[in-house]
Amino acid sequence: MSSYPTAPDWSGAVAALHQADSVLLIAHVTPDADALGSALALGLALKSLGKKVQVSVGEPDFQVPSSLNFLPGLDLVVTPEQADSADVVVVCDTSSSERLGVLADFVSASAISIAIDHHPTFNGFGTIHIIDPESPATAALALKLIDLLDVTLTRDIASAIYAGLATDTGSFKFQSTTSETLRTAARLFDAGIQHSDLARKLFDDEPFDALRVLGVALERAVLVPTAVGGRGLVYTTVSSYDRGELPELAMERVIDTLRRTTEAEVAAVFKQTDEGVWKGSLRSKTSINVGEVAGSLGGGGHKYAAGYTGTSDVDQMVIDLISELDRAAGA
Ligand code: 5GP
Ligand code: MN
Repeated sequence: MSSYPTAPDWSGAVAALHQADSVLLIAHVTPDADALGSALALGLALKSLGKKVQVSVGEPDFQVPSSLNFLPGLDLVVTPEQADSADVVVVCDTSSSERLGVLADFVSASAISIAIDHHPTFNGFGTIHIIDPESPATAALALKLIDLLDVTLTRDIASAIYAGLATDTGSFKFQSTTSETLRTAARLFDAGIQHSDLARKLFDDEPFDALRVLGVALERAVLVPTAVGGRGLVYTTVSSYDRGELPELAMERVIDTLRRTTEAEVAAVFKQTDEGVWKGSLRSKTSINVGEVAGSLGGGGHKYAAGYTGTSDVDQMVIDLISELDRAAGA
């Protein structure tokens, strides 16, 4: 995996943040715990330095999803409509400007914008870059920045960092986990986090209806052993009708069950949004770079976890995905 060409500009980011009176932190649309946790941890740290801090997400009338409403620092969150211009904008875990949603103009209009990200597909927006595709989570980069700002690691800051780190490493199971990641986690434990409580809320806590829809999605899953050059694809769909009253984010974990399929190198879940378009989530195990596959389908992500938004009906998306996966497998 290639590294971002520019080394992280830690001193540029620290100087800009020390000089700022006000900071707006932005997480990507449909934020996960790494995006929102990083923004909240940095927000809490900057608030302790006396800055005016806002945290937002570029979705109209953004509300924190119920799956993340236990994170510390949520009183910093404002809707994009409420966001004020700030001396510095910090964008967390966002690889491309389209994932800034309705806040994209805010970022491009800002004289100083710091992008903190670990996606290999980061496409270069912002004026100061802290991009490290080797980092297991944006939260690990956020923690380093907090250390460089000389802020004491409180339990709340540590909890927000842990949420991002545990999520993006799949509870420290993915290849991106190193001994340094585990030492970072140990440091967060020492700062007083309630790790088992956080783990349950992050991974083992879902509305009953979400489990029923998971059952429906698994029931209709299709295994294509010949796909991916014979290494196998398993996929399923979740329509907005299946989902009923549940929010889109409630379907995020369907892929975590589907990807366990022994016979498939790649797992895909196609999820229909409230607007009716289909989003594809991809996971691979060892040999296929789904970040590149998603990139060629208009999205992006990491080697083993990626996503994109479709432009056709879901049947055509399956056909297009299989052909891209065969190409990636050299078949
Ligand atoms: P998920 O399948 O959990 O939604 O996303 C997995 C990974 O792919 C995440 O790291 C996420 O940032 C990335 N990803 C998901 N959807 C998109 C997309 O539409 N565009 C880009 N650039 N990346 C995406
Ligand atoms: Mn991330």
